[in-house]
Amino acid sequence: MLKVDLHLHTAEDPRDDIRHDAAALVDRAAALGFDALAITLHDRQLADARLADRARDRGIVLLPGIERTIAGRHVLLVNFPQAAEQVRSFDEVARLKARMGGLVIAPHPFYPGLTCLRSLMHRHADLFDAVEWSYFWMRALNFNAPAARWARARGKPLVGNSDLHDLRQLGRTYSEVDCDDRDPAAICDAIRAGRVTVRSTPVPSFELAQVLGGMTLRLRTHAWLKPRATAPAISRTTPPAAARCRVDAPASR
Ligand SMILES: [Zn+2]
Ligand SMILES: [Zn+2]
Repeated sequence: MLKVDLHLHTAEDPRDDIRHDAAALVDRAAALGFDALAITLHDRQLADARLADRARDRGIVLLPGIERTIAGRHVLLVNFPQAAEQVRSFDEVARLKARMGGLVIAPHPFYPGLTCLRSLMHRHADLFDAVEWSYFWMRALNFNAPAARWARARGKPLVGNSDLHDLRQLGRTYSEVDCDDRDPAAICDAIRAGRVTVRSTPVPSFELAQVLGGMTLRLRTHAWLKPRATAPAISRTTPPAAARCRVDAPASR
C-alpha cells in the first residue's frame, strides 16, 4: 500500500500565498510516511529536478501535477506533460488525456464557490477518472458527501486529498493506493482501476480555524472559500462566509 496525496499547494504557487515551499512539504511528508505526492500549483506545473532528487532520497515519488483552471473551474491533472499548462477547455483536456493517459481528478467538486465543477460534473462525467474527498470537512458540515454519492453512482473511485495550503493539514486526509510499483503511471493506473482507499478524519474545529484563518489573512485564498456574491471584493479583515460557517460549526473529531 502506498500513502498518497495528489492535491498540494506550495510557496511556488502563482496564485496562493503559502508559507511552506516544496522542499519543506517533501520533508514533512517523509516524516509522515508518505510514498507519493503530486504538487498541484494553480495553472503551473512545477518541474524541479533537485526537488525530485530530494523526494527520491526520502523515499517519495513525485508525480507531475497541476490544478488547471478550465472554463473557470478547477481540475486536477496528474502525470501529464508540461503541455497541461496550456489546455483551456474540457475538450482539450480530453484530447490531451487520450494522447498521454494522465489521471483527471475532480477536486472539491460540490463545494460552494465559483471554481467548483458542480453541474459540469454531470456534463463531463466521462472525463473524470476519480473524485476528490477533501480535507476540508467536519461532521456537522461535509461538502464531500455529494461527491461520494456522485462517484458511487458512476463507479468512479474516490481519492483523499489535502488541498494543502498549510502544513498542518498534511496526513489527516490521504489515499492508500494498492500498487507495488512506485511509478507515477502505475499509481495512476491503480487509482483508475479503483485500487484506492480514502483515509480521512474530520478536522477538529480549532485546527480548521487555524488553517482557514491563515488562508484568509494571506488574502489570496483558495477560490472556493470566497462567497459567490462577493468574490471580487473580498475584504482583508472580514472572513468569507464559508470560512465563518465552518469555523463556527460544533467541534467534532
Ligand atoms: Zn481548487
Ligand atoms: Zn487546490
